[in-house]
Amino acid sequence: MTAEVHQFPCLSDNFGVLVHDPATGATAAIDVPEAAPVLKALAEKGWTLTDILVTHRHADHVQGIPEVKRHFPKARVIAPAGEADRVPMVDATVKEGDVASVGSLRAKVIETPGHTIGHIVYWFEADKLLFAGDTLFSIGCGRVNEAPMGVMWNSLLKLAALPEDTALYCGHEYTLANAKFALTIEPGNATLIAHIKEIEALRARGDATLPTTLGLELAINPFLRAEDPAVQAQLGMVGAAPADVFAEIRERKNRF
Ligand code: ZN
Ligand code: FE
Repeated sequence: MTAEVHQFPCLSDNFGVLVHDPATGATAAIDVPEAAPVLKALAEKGWTLTDILVTHRHADHVQGIPEVKRHFPKARVIAPAGEADRVPMVDATVKEGDVASVGSLRAKVIETPGHTIGHIVYWFEADKLLFAGDTLFSIGCGRVNEAPMGVMWNSLLKLAALPEDTALYCGHEYTLANAKFALTIEPGNATLIAHIKEIEALRARGDATLPTTLGLELAINPFLRAEDPAVQAQLGMVGAAPADVFAEIRERKNRF
């Protein structure tokens, strides 16, 4: 049996996500931006929380943990080894290559330093699911706060190498704003232009633009396209090192 994923809005632009294993009844929350929507989603689904998989320590990803733990005291908090000391109520830490289990489901841990130095993502290989936190967004990526730009670029390369049919879930609904910026980098990207119509329609209905797929992101996300000749030409950086092209795109986005 395959994983069941339930995504719902939290705070102003975060996502809460539950991953449920029908075989065992186990259910994980990916981060806990705030407790109330997560508890409501669990009640609506009739699921018992068994695990909390933390991507990084920022408050908008962990602040709901204590309240959720009061309702589900047995839920195990799994946190990145690199910053677990700043995550509440941690039961176990994980690092690159470790496997986090949710019942019979298996998530490989991939370290993606950049947004924070200890940031990790969870890749459910068999279920083709990637929970990328604030490392990779649809048509965007996280602010690079705690590592050199080249380190963040290497983190993104790890995710870009995963299978294209992987469903990508992210920490935030930033897609429309990201798309407007992406058009300044690739005004002639036909796939991007067509996709923007879709996400505008989704947002007009109040629906989420996520999940997306890694395959689509490789075609439209400028932060994954630093090696593309058209992107390099637009930036006047033909033949430059991809890490430098990435850094230029990220700096332009910071000023956008
Ligand atoms: Zn963050
Ligand atoms: Fe965040």
